Amino acid sequence: MSLSEDRFFGYTGRWAFVDLTSRTVRIVPADPAVCRDYVGGRGLQARLIFDHLKTTAPLRDPLSPENRLILGTAAPNDTFIPTAGRGSCSFVSPMTRSPKPAPWIPGHKPLYGLLTHSSAGGLFPNMLKRAGVDQLIIDGRADRPVRLLVTEDGVTIVDAEEDLFETVDGRRTVRTASAITDYLAEKYPGSSTMCLGPAGWNKVAFACLTGDHHRNFGRGGAGAVMGSKNLVAVTALGKMQTTYADAAAFQKLSKELDALIKSHVGDPAWTASFRPKTGTTWWLDRAFNGGYLGKQGGYLPWHNFDEGWFDPAAYSRVGTDAFLAISGKPKVCNRCRHVLCTRAARVESGPYTGEGVRPEFETIALWINCCITDREAIFHLNRLCNELGVDTMSFGGVTAGAMDLEEKGFLKRYAGAPKFGDAPGMIRFLEDIAYRRGDIGRVFAGPSDAAITEVGSGAGPADLEAIARCVVTAFGGLGYAGIEPKAFPGMFTAYGTSNRGRGDHSYAWTIQAEEGVL
Ligand code: SF4
Repeated sequence: MSLSEDRFFGYTGRWAFVDLTSRTVRIVPADPAVCRDYVGGRGLQARLIFDHLKTTAPLRDPLSPENRLILGTAAPNDTFIPTAGRGSCSFVSPMTRSPKPAPWIPGHKPLYGLLTHSSAGGLFPNMLKRAGVDQLIIDGRADRPVRLLVTEDGVTIVDAEEDLFETVDGRRTVRTASAITDYLAEKYPGSSTMCLGPAGWNKVAFACLTGDHHRNFGRGGAGAVMGSKNLVAVTALGKMQTTYADAAAFQKLSKELDALIKSHVGDPAWTASFRPKTGTTWWLDRAFNGGYLGKQGGYLPWHNFDEGWFDPAAYSRVGTDAFLAISGKPKVCNRCRHVLCTRAARVESGPYTGEGVRPEFETIALWINCCITDREAIFHLNRLCNELGVDTMSFGGVTAGAMDLEEKGFLKRYAGAPKFGDAPGMIRFLEDIAYRRGDIGRVFAGPSDAAITEVGSGAGPADLEAIARCVVTAFGGLGYAGIEPKAFPGMFTAYGTSNRGRGDHSYAWTIQAEEGVL
């Protein structure tokens, strides 16, 4: 199908179906009706997964070959529209699987996973489109480790090279995400790679996919699903340009949007104005100093969501200004304009010396919730999560829960349990989880209800309830985001009702409305 025949503008008009079990690839014309009905990446991908599940359902295990993983873009990607660089990834989440009876939940019914979605920026999504594919639809499981190469010539399934692996603790695992990315960047100059890290390879429930070193399909466990398919990486390389039905009219509209975004960024009355300087870390000061209902502070979580406020001297070490002090130049997504939220960051000395990017608000908030007030350790943990392929937010929720369990004496039989405020212990815990090292790594690498079941085995009803309460903020979905929800009925409702997993904040951010501030 030629694009002009079908008048398929905006999209490339091609979907690639990859069956790793049979090692076959089918590139088919996109269905114009589906593209028009669903417009964007998430809705369209939900439809493609729905169609698939109709032929394979019931899907009882998100880590089985029957789960479908889709990476893709939408019509605005790589166009004149400013900040049109983000892509979508959809799948049934392993984090939301809870098929065994949960005695701490009255009337518990088995859950086999929830259709979820994750979003990432960087270069990869636009490069996938330039390579001529709108949606990369991955089914099945390869019989040996493979990677995918997407170019304008098509999609190729390639056996994963030995260079992509190493041995850790006597077990073969993939190398870090940046080592995989660098290896493939050298092989295919100008390309962009989305890959898993050791956590995805080891099917950690909240493993992410990492693109361009630090852009993640973070929430929901896409890394575990990719690992379950024996798929290590997807590399995209192409130069195709997006076509327009009326390029001049589209450019005119894009310029209007550009001017609107620019005016909001330049106006201190809008929260968008903080983005180029402090990125999302602006919210740290806002959440700590608060002012909600006239009270000081109020919604930066502390000690596994016990409090929304803590010692200001400790806060000053990890507040907005503290992270601004280690920030460097902008390091933004492809096609980003004006908002420019991401900065490079560097720690110059001490045990956590290194270069990376400034962590995001949610990440920092959820690690403050573990009572970590060491900026350099937070920077290091963020870098390590990007290397190991672990979602920073869910890791924060799971860790705070584990620290609470440890403090209450429920983890005595597990060596290496992390403690509130212990940064080196939290770093060890992260590595234990990513490599599924020891009992502590094995237990907390799974969905949190599995951790409750194992830690609570043999406990009486009162202890079982106490154990469940420790982990409840990480239970049954994605885990709470970095806002203490007790102060915000709207956010509390959002956490409880999100359709991509409990605890999600992305599709309902009510704080500005609840505070009455833009
Ligand atoms: S750098 Fe930030 S503002 Fe710019 S496109 Fe990426 S996520 Fe959006």
